[in-house]
Amino acid sequence: MIKTTQRYDAINAIIKQRWGQEYSCYIFRVRPDGDYYLKAAPEIKKRNGKRNWVKAKRVQLILSPNQIRRKAMEWEAETGLCYECGGDGIELVGYSVTNGQKVIPCRYCTGTGTRV
Ligand SMILES: [Zn+2]
Repeated sequence: MIKTTQRYDAINAIIKQRWGQEYSCYIFRVRPDGDYYLKAAPEIKKRNGKRNWVKAKRVQLILSPNQIRRKAMEWEAETGLCYECGGDGIELVGYSVTNGQKVIPCRYCTGTGTRV
């Protein structure tokens, strides 16, 4: 399974391309048809460190999984890394309170972290 952070990176890359570097996604929902419903706006840093977004500049968009995949392929071509694991070769398969994260070698790149 693709790491959520990886998918989020691809989505943000699409958003930044369309509206500018200051934009980032703040609502992320998978619709029943499989498309992604997103809201984005320029991010402003508050003094207390909390994340906040410029309400007046909010935009919303719907991306299909294929659009995200295409962006992921571009990222792989640029970096030479495996998109599924983000290049660290590790896949998270579970979490337990006593043992912490349970990880296995990434199933796509067999743990090498490089583009397949
Ligand atoms: Zn991998």
